[in-house]
Amino acid sequence: MVEDLETSLFLEYARRKIAFEYDNEEMGELAVKILKTLSERNEAIPDETLALILGISATEIRRILHVMHRAGLVGLVRESTDQYRYEYKWFINKDFIRKFLIQHINNVVTKLMHRMNTLSRTTLYICPTCFRGYTLDEVYEYDFKCPRDDTELVQVDVPSEITFLANVIKNLRGEEKEQ
Ligand SMILES: [Zn+2]
Repeated sequence: MVEDLETSLFLEYARRKIAFEYDNEEMGELAVKILKTLSERNEAIPDETLALILGISATEIRRILHVMHRAGLVGLVRESTDQYRYEYKWFINKDFIRKFLIQHINNVVTKLMHRMNTLSRTTLYICPTCFRGYTLDEVYEYDFKCPRDDTELVQVDVPSEITFLANVIKNLRGEEKEQ
């Protein structure tokens, strides 16, 4: 199956997110396998079916599905099989992936906006060797030298940093509107 750009971005994000959550690369690969299967099936399916398709225990599948669901990476629907019983089914589709990406972009934009506001109110210094940032108070305390590597600290050019971030935000917003 040839993946479109949105799907590959989504899968790559899911791989890194789950690998990070478990601190285990293999779990990231398993997450991608599950999401690819759901995407190819293009319908909601129960975890037992997923377990059969992938040849993994239902318990293990269920555990990782819940982690992915908390991270917003997979959809969950409850269907009633009869008057008293429910069945839980998992899904992803193009619409789900697009909504996830837009939400993710919005979160990134919000974080960048916050960073811009902080920057415009602070004088920042940075160590050119280890790239650690320092406030003006810290700079006086350390006598203008990085306590880690003794490099002379330089002041960050706040206005140009803000222009740069503003452009990044403008581009992100633009991409979002085109969809
Ligand atoms: Zn340093």
